[in-house]
Amino acid sequence: MDRRRGIQYRTEVGYGLRAFDVVVTGAGVIGLSIAYHLSLTGKLKIAVIEKERFPCMGSTAYCTGGIRHQFSSPTNVALTKISLPYLKNFEKEMDYPVYFFHRGYLFVSSNPDRLKEFERNLAVLKDFDVPAEFLAPEEIAGRHPYIRTDDLVGGTTCPLDGYADPYGVTMGYFKQARKRGVEVFLREEVTGIAISNNQVRGVTTSSGRFSCRVLVNAAGPGLPEIGKLAGIEIPARPYRRQVYVCAPLEGIPGRAPLVVDMDTGFYMHTEKSGTMLLGGTDKDSFPGTDTAVDWSLLDGFIESAVLRIPRLQDAQLVRAYVGTRSLTPDYLGIIGEHPDLEGFFIAGGFAGNGFMHSPAIGLIVSQLITEGKCSLLDTAPLSPARLYGDGEKNVF
Ligand SMILES: Cc1cc2nc3c(=O)[nH]c(=O)nc-3n(C[C@H](O)[C@H](O)[C@H](O)COP(=O)(O)OP(=O)(O)OC[C@H]3O[C@@H](n4cnc5c(N)ncnc54)[C@H](O)[C@@H]3O)c2cc1C
Repeated sequence: MDRRRGIQYRTEVGYGLRAFDVVVTGAGVIGLSIAYHLSLTGKLKIAVIEKERFPCMGSTAYCTGGIRHQFSSPTNVALTKISLPYLKNFEKEMDYPVYFFHRGYLFVSSNPDRLKEFERNLAVLKDFDVPAEFLAPEEIAGRHPYIRTDDLVGGTTCPLDGYADPYGVTMGYFKQARKRGVEVFLREEVTGIAISNNQVRGVTTSSGRFSCRVLVNAAGPGLPEIGKLAGIEIPARPYRRQVYVCAPLEGIPGRAPLVVDMDTGFYMHTEKSGTMLLGGTDKDSFPGTDTAVDWSLLDGFIESAVLRIPRLQDAQLVRAYVGTRSLTPDYLGIIGEHPDLEGFFIAGGFAGNGFMHSPAIGLIVSQLITEGKCSLLDTAPLSPARLYGDGEKNVF
């Protein structure tokens, strides 16, 4: 099968009552970005099928909204570079209210072995003209006096990093996609996939059937389940992420960068209001979709939090919640047509980066479907085929 050619579009009526060119599974930020970007071609009949009552009920609903350039993988840096202008101009371009703030991310470590890692990552960022820099412990203390620095070897920061509004961006794509004719079916679960001659022909849902020659699996943590319906093993697994919400605290400014302690995983994200979203210490958890809060993790979390930001010992915990993120073995997302099934596209496994990369992912998937190739970046490190071999890895 020649995988580089574009798909021929022909709306078939033969299988099922509802005929589309492309069916997207999942109305999270990824599925709706893809549907929106596909709708701009003006040539396709597109459906988005979502099992919940509303869009943005999956991983995206729990997302902290962080946007960063500081990755160890060049592919992830490229995805942020493509996405950032879209996120900054989103409100104007998409006619939907969203917030966007540059606050910076600050990665710190007390492990001398990390210094080489910082150096390597800064070299990658320099190649992309991203203005990230190394900060010695004294510089960190000078800029952010609430951080304990006496045990640190240093950190890296990038002023272009920040955060935006995951709900607003998802709903902006939803609104604009529908305006351009995309049909979104809510409370409709994909339960089967019709295949013949190794080509996707349609999907069965809780209420009926849809025909299509392209199916995009953008089911977030449900990625492997949709794969199974097509007889395909997708090595992405949902992992829990427990978030602690704390009230604003004197001494921690609302304009603080997102601080990440690379040794414990602890992070502190501060909203403009001063409300803090804290977490990151559950990185060694097992795959699963149980979203009940595990209070047995609280003590370990507090220890890591207070170790890095002593002021947090006075923080008022308002509530905690759990979301799931989809992780792949090499911590890179999956974008592209599966090598063993024509018309079966995957867009998932984006770990903690799916929101920030959603504009790029929508553009790339749209190009792959309509043109058979992508002009924006080399998609090989993201391809489904690479999951079954060796390749680039994102270590943080
Ligand atoms: C606590 C937390 C914090 C995060 N912080 C950040 C961050 O700071 N920055 C960042 O960029 N990313 C972050 N992420 C990751 C980000 O949220 C995800 O990468 C992104 O939301 C994935 O979007 P999605 O559309 O692929 O998945 P989802 O939002 O999960 O959407 C998938 C949709 O598919 C639907 N679905 C599944 N199966 C079926 C089916 N059979 N039939 C019909 N519909 C189906 C689901 O109901 C769901 O609505 C965070 C994640 C968590 C959990």
